[in-house]
Amino acid sequence: MKALIYYGQRNVRLEDVEIPTPAETQVLIKVTDAGICQTQINEFMEGPFIINNDPHPLTGKAIPIIVGHEFGGIVEAVGAGDQNDLVGQQVAVLPLLTCGECRYCQNKQENLCDKLAYYGLIGERGGFAEYTVVNQENVFPVDDPALLTFIEPILVGIHAAEQTGAGLAGKKTLVLGTGALGLSLAAVWQFYYGAEVYLNDIIPFRQEKARQAGFNTLSKEEIPADFDIVADCAGSDPLSQQAALLEGLDYLLKGGVLLDIGTYFHPLSFMPTSLLVAEKRILPAFAYNSRDVVRLEAVLESIKTDFSIFIETAPLADIVEMGYFRAEVDRDNFTRLVVKC
Ligand SMILES: [Zn+2]
Repeated sequence: MKALIYYGQRNVRLEDVEIPTPAETQVLIKVTDAGICQTQINEFMEGPFIINNDPHPLTGKAIPIIVGHEFGGIVEAVGAGDQNDLVGQQVAVLPLLTCGECRYCQNKQENLCDKLAYYGLIGERGGFAEYTVVNQENVFPVDDPALLTFIEPILVGIHAAEQTGAGLAGKKTLVLGTGALGLSLAAVWQFYYGAEVYLNDIIPFRQEKARQAGFNTLSKEEIPADFDIVADCAGSDPLSQQAALLEGLDYLLKGGVLLDIGTYFHPLSFMPTSLLVAEKRILPAFAYNSRDVVRLEAVLESIKTDFSIFIETAPLADIVEMGYFRAEVDRDNFTRLVVKC
């Protein structure tokens, strides 16, 4: 089968590899959809940052490795220990892998696990491949094929909401970045948590798509400084070097909360006293945990957004040119690139 292997900075290759065999507690998935997100593009352009060079403490695996962490497909075979009813089901992969033993796992803070691995990103093979094997407990049945690559960012959106701790109903919130993460978080916060949500993106095409999907959008000039919560779903922009994390602080009410969700691989500088005197808080939200997964089914039932309108597809054979290269140099006219494997 074909699979995309990450060797390092600016070095990804589509190669022929063996179709993996599921172990007793695993399933073999014919991957149908795998999303290319900015994290993977940053790993390609400037990494490795998160993808591990050294053998992973949980899995022993390291670069070179098959990447892609937002994916799903059809269960084609199961290991000997499976109850078999998974065969033929369309599933999204929940990419978090944990040790189950450390203090964080014991406390259901699995996203902080001392040996955290993540399918397609940290220590384990991922979804940019025709087939992959994953643990049975890491698949989640999904009816809408357009949602397959959005399940991971939806879980991150749930986790971010739970991190705020106070309930989002009626809260005026701004989401910076309308990529897969920003759109997913906005849908979760609006439909499941009942927040008043506005979106902004520095790329006009993406902001317009969000508006077409029914979200409230604000261009930069229109953004007032009266939000209870701002979610940074943009992270660092390698081209403009803009930092939504710092910009977002300006849009908060005093006492407001800025959720740090996007990724940065370069230092930022800011004046702590500007936070102090306004009691603004920066709250990180990383990945998701088992408590967030418990909410997933109800969250999916609540979401009214049609995610298919954001998707543009490319065949796996063209993933480097139509995926990675395009995402780097021609990002002004797509929102979500999905590789059809
Ligand atoms: Zn652990």
